[in-house]
Amino acid sequence: MFDLGWNPLHGAPSYPAERYSTLADRIGRILHCRGDILLVQAEAVVALEAAAVSLARPGLSALNIVSSPYGGWFGQWLLRGGATVRNIVAEPGLPIEIEAVAKALDASPHIDVLAVVHAESASGILNPLPEILALARSRGTVTVVDAVASIGGHRLEVDALGVDVAVIGPQKALGGPAGVSALSVSKRAWDLILKDGGPRDSILSLADLKSWVEDGRRGLPGTPAPLEFFALEAALDRIEAEGLEDVIARHVLAASATRAGLTALGAGTWVPAAKASNLVTAVPVPGELAPAGLIAAAGRLGVDLAAGAGAAAHLVRLNHTGPRAAFQTVLSNVAAYGTALRQAGHPADIAAASEAISAAYSP
Ligand SMILES: *Cc1c(COP(=O)(O)O)cnc(C)c1O
Repeated sequence: MFDLGWNPLHGAPSYPAERYSTLADRIGRILHCRGDILLVQAEAVVALEAAAVSLARPGLSALNIVSSPYGGWFGQWLLRGGATVRNIVAEPGLPIEIEAVAKALDASPHIDVLAVVHAESASGILNPLPEILALARSRGTVTVVDAVASIGGHRLEVDALGVDVAVIGPQKALGGPAGVSALSVSKRAWDLILKDGGPRDSILSLADLKSWVEDGRRGLPGTPAPLEFFALEAALDRIEAEGLEDVIARHVLAASATRAGLTALGAGTWVPAAKASNLVTAVPVPGELAPAGLIAAAGRLGVDLAAGAGAAAHLVRLNHTGPRAAFQTVLSNVAAYGTALRQAGHPADIAAASEAISAAYSP
């Protein structure tokens, strides 16, 4: 016999339709954005692809800044939609130089769209977003910002900075679920998306999602996964209880304490503080050692470190994003990296690193 007993996890009630608009408004406040906020019923890469697909068409010219695989994909999606795409690619594992962006904009008579990632979790870098946006704005270019990693870890004032499309996910610094994401769309971006009829009747169509806004922001299309929206609501409750400014300050502190710890350890950091994100800190692995061996040694201590992604492969990343932006994770990350170095026969001053982290966390 089957037991048909009700399980609250398996039998979650629908997310109440009247609460989607509240969720969108709360995300708008996190983004400092008064424009439209769209909810996407999938992880943030889908929201990014939706933005690209909805903007791309023959005749559209785009400048796409590539500082990680995410930027690379964005350029591919624009190309697939028939847009003319000029990629400007940062040095491996480094932020884009503002001079390169200025040069590329000056070299092109008209650019409709500029796309850039705010902060990278793959290498721990921060692109010079306000400067890039100022250049784009002065030319009337519509801007798309991948703020999936940065939101909650860095300030992002969408309206004040002039971001036309900001894509976010709750699963990084906001410490929320991975199965739902959101984007903001400005009036200027809508004009471009709706010009000559953007793609419709597609899960990737922002024009379709505009109908949800126009119809009073009630039930989302299809059958939304309720647990994702309950989890998003819980994440927003936590962020609002802590206060967004304090969440960001917690990431700033975790990053500076990690950097201080790595410096005292004798390991150094990959980029200077001004070019670093508050989300992960990359450390250059001594030439004779393999990142995988150090990561495995830290893993045996129960500490999760990660390899740098793509071209930034000879790096180890110390993650201090979301709930990890806290003293105990910062301390265990640095101490485990130091222990791994020593086990590999490389010196590391773990005592000095602990002192530095303790000092960073002392008022
Ligand atoms: C994490 C991240 C994403 C989204 O990737 P997921 O596959 O949803 O984790 C997009 N862009 C950036 C810059 C990210 O760091």
